[in-house]
Amino acid sequence: MPNAAANIRPQPGDALILVDVQTDFLPGGNLGVPHGDEVVPALNRYLAAFHARKLPIYATRDWHPRNHCSFQAQGGPWPPHCVADSPGAAFAANLHLPPETVVISKAQRAEQDAYSGFEGTDLDARLKRAGVRRVFVGGLATDYCVLNTVRDARKLSYDVFLLTDGARAVNVQSDDGRKAEEEMRRLGARPIEFQQLAA
Ligand SMILES: [Zn+2]
Repeated sequence: MPNAAANIRPQPGDALILVDVQTDFLPGGNLGVPHGDEVVPALNRYLAAFHARKLPIYATRDWHPRNHCSFQAQGGPWPPHCVADSPGAAFAANLHLPPETVVISKAQRAEQDAYSGFEGTDLDARLKRAGVRRVFVGGLATDYCVLNTVRDARKLSYDVFLLTDGARAVNVQSDDGRKAEEEMRRLGARPIEFQQLAA
């Protein structure tokens, strides 16, 4: 991983990956993440920075059928959320996704869940085609889909920056988010905040 502060600046070979910044994961949504709305203004700053530099932007989304296996009615752990084409599955209304954003839908089949944006999608192929080597990852939630997306990104040998100001945890156990961050750090992901890009 690069260490010089200047190398944090988004540059060719970099991509922004926003994980599941969807209405159902915001406070008041069907599976609201505490303080999940706080990621939106933070991620808007990253979006503007990547858009201005014409760097690729990917937004993953849960896109479930009504009878998805992760829902409690089917014996899964979660209340129904992010049902395809429902208002709750929409990206956060105040998230400023530029038109070139590539949307990556995941867990679209009833019998399969996917916490990682790489699981069952063409995200890796798209990143490779775009010549991406470093990914900046934020979104919801730190201890589930962000964690699993970062795990896979590291397995696939991408350099990873974790956007700590642009991610929040569910914290089913109160320190789940902290533990997830520790694991991502251990895997080689580098936690950053937006002001470091401008430094
Ligand atoms: Zn889901």
